Amino acid sequence: MRIVILGAGQAAASMAARLRARGHDGPLTVVGAEPVAPYQRPPLSKAYLLGQMGLERLLLRAPEWWTDQRIDLRLSETATAIDTASRLVTTDRGSLAYDALALTLGARPRRLPEAAGGHLSGVYVIRSLADVDALAPSMRPGRRLIVIGGGYIGLEAAAVARKLDLEVTVLESAPRILGRVAATETADMIRALHQAHGVTIMESASLQRITGTDRATGVALADGRELPADLIVTGIGVLPETRLAHEAGLAIDNGILTDDRGRSSDPAIWAAGDCASFPFEGERIRLESVGGAIDMAETVADNMLGADRAYVAKPWFWSDQFDAKLQIAGLGAGHDRIVTRPGDGRHGGSVWYYRRDRLIAVDALNDARAYMIGKRLIEAGRSPDPQTLAETPDLKALL
Ligand code: NAP
Repeated sequence: MRIVILGAGQAAASMAARLRARGHDGPLTVVGAEPVAPYQRPPLSKAYLLGQMGLERLLLRAPEWWTDQRIDLRLSETATAIDTASRLVTTDRGSLAYDALALTLGARPRRLPEAAGGHLSGVYVIRSLADVDALAPSMRPGRRLIVIGGGYIGLEAAAVARKLDLEVTVLESAPRILGRVAATETADMIRALHQAHGVTIMESASLQRITGTDRATGVALADGRELPADLIVTGIGVLPETRLAHEAGLAIDNGILTDDRGRSSDPAIWAAGDCASFPFEGERIRLESVGGAIDMAETVADNMLGADRAYVAKPWFWSDQFDAKLQIAGLGAGHDRIVTRPGDGRHGGSVWYYRRDRLIAVDALNDARAYMIGKRLIEAGRSPDPQTLAETPDLKALL
């Protein structure tokens, strides 16, 4: 069986490794548009941007691993079309025949349109190694950085910039930061953390446009205010890479639609990672997380080899900002009740999400114990009584 994987990120690397580990001995090709072998993205907005981590530590596998595993890793190569009838992928360098094809194409950052100044020099995004290599030299002490978007990317970039002694303002158009991914209580802790480190956070701050002619000079807000800046980072979300799949006639629903096996609407094509949408607790979701990419990719690898196993997502995330670690288990969307618990002294604590009396997620700031216990409870489908959870002196007693 000839297996081709399009996209060379975390999901591709995990899938390729699993395929070999589970005995796939036939041809295995991984095609990636970037010039570098698969690498970890999470450190890009943290240690790598801070200059504390080099490229060799970012790489998921040593260069010789790919040859040892007899994986044809084709870099700087872009897939341009999939012919599902003849099972052929066209790339900018030729064509590849497949028996099974996996799409692990990830997501690309949303960008502000040209009319809003998104094209100006001095405006950066953080998604790829090349993005961060372009940004890092501008992060110099005393410079004024405006971050547009108060999600994880924006807040992590803000934290790094403060550590590097820039003046930092975060603009969030919604009424509060982390609106898409966390409850008000978590956002309050993160806001306080940033403010304690000298970051200015402006919420309900609608951007009109980035100012400047060739180079960004600041931002104009919808209420008429203008803020000067030397550089701008936008962290306004990502869009799943669905174009190839769409043009090949595959079903798309927010991402490349897959069933619970990770199979797309074409029986020979699979998808995993940020680009895939899959069934989860009666809904259809897309997970933007490394943990999700690894788990789904491994399940898809097993299923390509005939395991016929369902992918049951166990979402978890983390974010490092300043000296704080935020750990998240589960998905809090749709919660109707929140329970908070103080931490063990250091700035932090935990926020527990319930939906119809069911524990669905926990956010833990500097509270590894709350995270571990919450994760175990959620994965076991157990929901402690909210009152008991709020009051118990010993969380472990809930297990
Ligand atoms: P995100 O989590 O979607 O956050 C984007 C934020 O920007 C949202 O709060 C959004 O608010 C806001 N926004 C959108 N348009 C805006 C505008 N014009 N002006 C001001 N604010 C605006 O995405 P992200 O932070 O860019 O992260 C990108 C991806 O990397 C995500 O998949 C994320 O999960 C991932 N990532 C994960 C981690 C982690 O897990 N630690 C760290 C970094 C990145 P609205 O919702 O109101 O539009």
